[in-house]
Amino acid sequence: MRNCPLCTVELQEVSLHHEQVDICSECCGIFLDNGELGSIVKMVKIFREIDLDEEDIDTISVEDRKRDLFCPVEGATMRPVDMSGVVVDVCPDCGGIWLDGGEMSALRLAESNLRANLNLYTRLGR
Ligand SMILES: [Zn+2]
Ligand SMILES: [Zn+2]
Repeated sequence: MRNCPLCTVELQEVSLHHEQVDICSECCGIFLDNGELGSIVKMVKIFREIDLDEEDIDTISVEDRKRDLFCPVEGATMRPVDMSGVVVDVCPDCGGIWLDGGEMSALRLAESNLRANLNLYTRLGR
């Protein structure tokens, strides 16, 4: 069982494109396991598929993001990573990625930049 790092409610497992993603029904945040990020194209597809009611919320910058998020998998402290101006939280242990609800819109807009950055990120490894 995994809980939302923000709301602590239980995450709901949803299957999209044969990938399991964990979604919080409270804050619309999404957790992606490292293995689930097989290809960025798939990831963007998932973002598109999840049709949430959200405005285009500006993401919080790395500097402003003063919070401790703990990975739903093993509880490691997640680190903010800037991807094309969109800050996502990445677990240094399992490589899982946490996206706040509002970050999805921003990621959709930054799709091509994100693809490049994510490739770089994956290449640099953990
Ligand atoms: Zn939540
Ligand atoms: Zn983790």
